[in-house]
Amino acid sequence: MAEYIVGIDLGGTSAKLALFDRQLDKVGRWQVATNAKNGGQAIIPDLIASIQSELQEHKLASSDLIGIGMGTPGSIDRQAGSVQGAFNLGWAKAQDIRGAFQEVFPGVKVALENDANVAALGEHAKGAGKDYRHLLLVTLGTGIGGGLIVNDQLLVGAGNAGEIGHIQANPEGFLCTCGNRGCIETIASATGFRQTALARAKQEESPESSFKSFVQAHPDRIDAELIFEKARAKDAFAQAVVEECLTYLGRCLSQIANSVHPQCILLGGGVAQAGNYLIQGLKPAFEAGLYPGIKGSVEIKIASLGNDAGMIGAASLIQNDLKE
Ligand SMILES: [Zn+2]
Repeated sequence: MAEYIVGIDLGGTSAKLALFDRQLDKVGRWQVATNAKNGGQAIIPDLIASIQSELQEHKLASSDLIGIGMGTPGSIDRQAGSVQGAFNLGWAKAQDIRGAFQEVFPGVKVALENDANVAALGEHAKGAGKDYRHLLLVTLGTGIGGGLIVNDQLLVGAGNAGEIGHIQANPEGFLCTCGNRGCIETIASATGFRQTALARAKQEESPESSFKSFVQAHPDRIDAELIFEKARAKDAFAQAVVEECLTYLGRCLSQIANSVHPQCILLGGGVAQAGNYLIQGLKPAFEAGLYPGIKGSVEIKIASLGNDAGMIGAASLIQNDLKE
């Protein structure tokens, strides 16, 4: 009987892969560079070759494989097993991912999901979200992604539920990649912290500090990590930037909580490395925004699986399928 599942977290620079047993315990893990040249035509063949060599290493055959689950950027057609509009992979037009895998691994199940959603599934299966039936994972990286689990099931709605990064938090704010202004990802992602700091450094009314002068002199050296470091060291300007960004984020998360009432909101991605400092910073606006009926019943925690969440969640797409 086939016993193994491959979980893939496909990103613009590399793909993280792992081989799991039916209980989603990891048997092996490896990484493949993503070759986005020539319309990304080498990406799937590279993944296939690496899976074949991993199977060989464990003395396994294709027939030992139950399925391949993959988290990917872009717009996913779950029914067709295809992805399109993943521009960082070179995949502008629809790519038949399921067909390509099944050509080499006949009879293997292939499931695709977007990258934020697989991270949510991973945290729900094995991470900080495993004790909750209703969970929101927010990834604070270059942008902001979201994955929503309701009744232990991923919520996809008509296809793209959970794209919380584009909730408009400030109509007068920065221009977003989506064309709107002031989406929460223009404020509270790593990019958002940086551009808020750069904008506030140009304003006379923002607090004066040594860090403010540094931002004015070296705008190219500013990132979210440095802003948090200075805020922690009680630099008044950095504290004001962090407070502004986290007030928007806290308010935004409270509005999501008011509409879907998760038991827990998990924060992941690079910005979440700020840990408890991040949580404490957004809590005042978050608590203030909750309506009385749910106050005190939504926890906020830091995600626990880091970069592993995606491949575990991708594999869980196949595991969940087995339960049905
Ligand atoms: Zn947007």
